[in-house]
Amino acid sequence: MGEIKRVIIIGAGQAGGETAQRLRQAGFDGDITLIGEEPCPPYQRPPLSKAYLAGKISMDRLLLRPASVYAEERIAFLQGVKAVWIDRAGKKVRVEGGRELPYDALVLATGARPRKLPLVGADLDGVHLFRTAADVDTIRPRFVSGAKLIVIGAGYIGLEVAAVARQTGLDVTVIETAVRPLARVTSPEVAGFFLDEHTRQGVRFLLGGQPAVIKGKAHVTGVGLADGGELPADLVIAGIGVTPETTLAQHSGLTVDNGVVTDATCRTSDPSIFAIGDCATRPMAHFDQRLCRLESVHSAVEGAKIVAATIMGQTHAVEAPWFWSDQYDLKLQIAGLFQGYDHVVFRGVMADRSFAAFYYKGEKLIAVDAVNRPGEYLGAKMLIQTGRTLAQDVITDEARTMKELVASAR
Ligand code: FAD
Repeated sequence: MGEIKRVIIIGAGQAGGETAQRLRQAGFDGDITLIGEEPCPPYQRPPLSKAYLAGKISMDRLLLRPASVYAEERIAFLQGVKAVWIDRAGKKVRVEGGRELPYDALVLATGARPRKLPLVGADLDGVHLFRTAADVDTIRPRFVSGAKLIVIGAGYIGLEVAAVARQTGLDVTVIETAVRPLARVTSPEVAGFFLDEHTRQGVRFLLGGQPAVIKGKAHVTGVGLADGGELPADLVIAGIGVTPETTLAQHSGLTVDNGVVTDATCRTSDPSIFAIGDCATRPMAHFDQRLCRLESVHSAVEGAKIVAATIMGQTHAVEAPWFWSDQYDLKLQIAGLFQGYDHVVFRGVMADRSFAAFYYKGEKLIAVDAVNRPGEYLGAKMLIQTGRTLAQDVITDEARTMKELVASAR
């Protein structure tokens, strides 16, 4: 890649917004164009299923940065504009309406699209996906005490929505096709803890449930099940996962495999094009360079930092992955990647609603799920980050603080 004077970023979400900011912070003086199809400046999605859904914060608080900074920092922000074509040979991006913009470096930060329910009736009024602020704004008027809510999908978003719904006084049923909640993202033990917690809070679960049809005329009235049963509903929210938004990358011939494939510097199969955030798959520094597509704020921000550093001819020391989820008064903090673990040990007990689950592969600590245990989360994250470990009988020894244990780790 020659001298970079013009950077175009497609997608003005967490990853795209951060990239523009990080480039300027790193001293990039050239042109930056940020293209975003949503009708607002870049914002954070995590509060959508937490404080924003609960009506506790307004849209202003979701914004990554005030709307005015883009002009102040000479970032040409094309709000409400969709990029429709990449001309790799000519190094140009075409936007809706036909305008073409030249680039020296292009960053794909197109995120992911929520999967639609593959059911008859999924387009009825009152059936919602859950990805954007606009989705939540549409849901809110009906998200009221006494309303019957069916959540389809018991991943983190589905369970966070269920928690806010119970706190708001809705009648909540969660339908999950797997036999347990959180099947893709945590161990059976931790999933069981959250299942018990939600059940205690009054959420009904239909595990192994098979929704077959959404019922209603204009507005949803219920969900029909494969076994012939039917559950009444005023509101249905689907949280059944996302698909990486790779349309532009695929059409322009970049390598795509569950996300746009990149190297450790987030460079795609075209050296002038980077891909970051939910749309991208990159090798994980702390996990044997395994290719992963992570759907998290941390991954989006790390991607932005890596790209900004690379464009400026610098390097960025990558952090181990982390994530969080808030449900009721439970703060779950996760570090590392638990996939491939062969055993899990616990510090603290679930009955106290304050514990940490440490995941090991052989002797190596690979991940932690810490519930209301910030010290254990931070300690384990530090160990994973620095490639150190603690024996399982040591990490579970509550006679010693996590800080002491981490200091003694090799
Ligand atoms: P996005 O934020 O999706 O941004 C991509 C943007 O690109 C979108 O605005 C999209 O419209 C736009 N775009 C796509 N194609 C084009 C195009 N052709 N032209 C122009 N614009 C385009 N993560 C956590 O770590 N912790 C949490 O607690 C957590 N909670 C979450 C709760 C919810 C409800 C959701 C939806 C996500 C949550 N996440 C959480 C995940 C996190 O928000 C995402 O991983 C993160 O937003 C990914 O950032 P991104 O920029 O890659 O994608």
